[in-house]
Amino acid sequence: MPELPEVETVRRGLAPVMEGACFAKVDVRRGDLRWPLPKDFARRLKGRTVTSVGRRAKYLLIDLASGDVLLMHLGMSGSFHVFRGGGDKALGRYHHERARHASHDHVVFHMSSSAIVTFNDPRRFGSMKIVAREKLDAEPLLRSLGPEPLGNVFDAAMLAAACMGKKTSLKAALLDQRVVAGLGNIYVCEALHRARLSPKRMASTIAGRSGAPNERAERLVEGIKAVLYDAIEAGGSSLRDHKRPDGELGMFQHRFRVYDREDQKCPTTGCRGVVKRIVQNGRSTFYCPVCQK
Ligand SMILES: [Zn+2]
Repeated sequence: MPELPEVETVRRGLAPVMEGACFAKVDVRRGDLRWPLPKDFARRLKGRTVTSVGRRAKYLLIDLASGDVLLMHLGMSGSFHVFRGGGDKALGRYHHERARHASHDHVVFHMSSSAIVTFNDPRRFGSMKIVAREKLDAEPLLRSLGPEPLGNVFDAAMLAAACMGKKTSLKAALLDQRVVAGLGNIYVCEALHRARLSPKRMASTIAGRSGAPNERAERLVEGIKAVLYDAIEAGGSSLRDHKRPDGELGMFQHRFRVYDREDQKCPTTGCRGVVKRIVQNGRSTFYCPVCQK
């Protein structure tokens, strides 16, 4: 499932072809994604200009000059493909690529920039919704999301306060989108390894009794930010479904330190540990029992 770095990579691929362009035509082939698309979906987009392509956690937010926001989520297997128009070559490539994927191309945006943006989603857990910008704060999908981990306000004090008194594991706390938004299994494992903290440690132990952050909280925030920046720079991780909108693969899977590396040597300098896999809340956790305490 795409996590924050993969969605940010998608945002960066869509922004150059969508910002400043308008929707010339919106082709809905299958409206039954995770939730049915609204009946007026195409009508509310057609002819509207995109003012910005943003992101909140794992959601893409396409702001329109009309005051509406197109809210999109990739779900489990959703991906966008950009075909730049202008010339037979690009068009040929579009038709060729489409022939392979067409049955899963559920929504096709034809932009006035002559770019064609397709949303492909074999499992159809992705979603799209149009919300008025002024009602975005009350939007149920976004309302309960915790802080953006790469935002300026996210720091050790904020994370410690959210974990104060929590009797769950640190791993479970970081997967909780109300504590911090956008992290999933891969980047939680990687951030904990960078912070040298055990995924089994009680979440409450990164805060003092008053809720003040301790040194573990500082390390954890540093680890989270560092792994996300590195992953975005590498174009995200391509495990099963993630590709950048230009069709290129993300490369961060080659730089995992613990994720999916069971029985391999821990990459921490000077550590003689071996990466172990355990199951927490029904999902695999990868960590080094030697240097992660
Ligand atoms: Zn280690």
